[in-house]
Amino acid sequence: ERLVLQRVCSSARDEWHADTVDALGAQLRLSIVVLGASGDLAKKKTYPALFHLFKKGFLPRRLQIVGYARSKMSSPELRDRLRPFLEKESNGDGEAVEQFLNSCCYLAGDYDAPDGYERLGAALAGWEAQMCVGSSAPPPGPRLGRLFYLALPPSVYPQVCQRLREHCGTLYGKGSNGGAAASASAAAGGGANGGGGNGGEGGSRRGAAAPSALLPPEGSFVRLILEKPFGHDLQSSEVLATQIGSFWPEEQLYRIDHYLGKELVQNMLMLRFANPIFGAFFNRHYISNIQITFKEPFGTEGRGGYFDQYGIIRDVIQNHLIQVLALLTMEAPVSLHPDDIRDEKVKVLRCVAPPGPADAVVGQYSADQGQPGYLDDPTVPAGSRTPTFAAVRLLVRNERWDGVPIIIKAGKALNERLAAVRGKGADRGDQQHFVRRDELRAAWAIFTPLLAAVDAGAVPVHTYPYGSRGPSAADTLANDSGYVRT
Ligand code: NDP
Repeated sequence: ERLVLQRVCSSARDEWHADTVDALGAQLRLSIVVLGASGDLAKKKTYPALFHLFKKGFLPRRLQIVGYARSKMSSPELRDRLRPFLEKESNGDGEAVEQFLNSCCYLAGDYDAPDGYERLGAALAGWEAQMCVGSSAPPPGPRLGRLFYLALPPSVYPQVCQRLREHCGTLYGKGSNGGAAASASAAAGGGANGGGGNGGEGGSRRGAAAPSALLPPEGSFVRLILEKPFGHDLQSSEVLATQIGSFWPEEQLYRIDHYLGKELVQNMLMLRFANPIFGAFFNRHYISNIQITFKEPFGTEGRGGYFDQYGIIRDVIQNHLIQVLALLTMEAPVSLHPDDIRDEKVKVLRCVAPPGPADAVVGQYSADQGQPGYLDDPTVPAGSRTPTFAAVRLLVRNERWDGVPIIIKAGKALNERLAAVRGKGADRGDQQHFVRRDELRAAWAIFTPLLAAVDAGAVPVHTYPYGSRGPSAADTLANDSGYVRT
């Protein structure tokens, strides 16, 4: 998550022509709004990830991070709630923790009613106005940025996207005029500082907002970051994407796939296309099959309620691992521009034939050696058939990969922690890190028929003992595809 967020911030940094972090800090006034700030993801992942960026200097000095959720909480209460999670990441640097927390404030509001968003929009605009005063940047002033991060259940995405667009989606929009707009710190009961030591700058000249007739300076931005899951199948994903797309254009949307931020995944393009020797062997003439494996050595452990609605194919394979497959098998992009990379990914995903039941083995872990089975998790509905393991054989029907089976295998409660890609040969001679809508559609199109068969009970669910390698039928599928375990 840290790396993914870093991408949003650092790609923005490139756009602002800032050569150094200091230049970045001087150039931008950035508001980050965490919607669902009272939740699990926010405290465990989102805020700690932002703290990392802050410590590394990837965030501008003039920064406010506004938490928004329905829970009634003051800004100091939010900070107290976050502090232990940040301290874990701080390497004992308590001062950095407090500096970061000084940038954080909280605003309580509903997700469906306009009132909270109106207050939020006014607070953002007021703070921006305050931060622009006294800047040496030529008119219309320094660059402004708003990042909205939805750490919320997807059921509320459409209404939140609509309200954010209406009340907070326009720089110099509603509430930004004149001196009446309250600063975020005032609206939220104190807390957002002027950005690591610059608080005094705006404070004495508050109220001199940028004139509304001016357009925001070039390089200003408003972006919306979404967490998975992006739908349940092709149809629900399309409905959600259309709803969100009616309020936010694709270029302002960042759908997080944490896997795309991982270093190995990021390096895959370099490995494939910057290395002519490696690249020359990357095709069906030299590779007979590929295994993409993701193993977790633990079960759901009390979070089965969430997992049970999705299962391993929706949770890991349809999104993260299919992205790995796309990066592994795509053709060289015209350039490293994110859209060129994503165009190539979409092209190769469209060549993947949807697998049928005969191409899949699914399983569910059972109790073994003192460890509970999936059905022993009290948050899992009794008798659930949700797969915690799946091995799926895919074929990429194009010139490069025709006839090369690719097996994606993922499971919980297995014998080890592993994320690996293996290719077998010898016998046969920056929005790039975010998922575009057409990629999402192509990925769901691959898996929706299989998921429908699994949901309908048309695919047998094998049991496998906690801590094992998974169902033996998965080995049979791999062997039948030409994979020899060495
Ligand atoms: P939570 O269930 O903790 O929800 C986050 C916040 O949303 C809650 O604090 C609550 O805030 C509000 N909320 C919860 N349920 C509802 C509801 N039915 N209607 C309206 N608001 C609600 O979720 P997480 O923080 O765990 O996850 C947030 C998103 O991130 C989800 O989409 C999840 O799938 C995804 N995700 C989570 C991961 C994790 O590790 N937790 C990992 C990867 C993705 P309040 O009541 O104060 O408004």
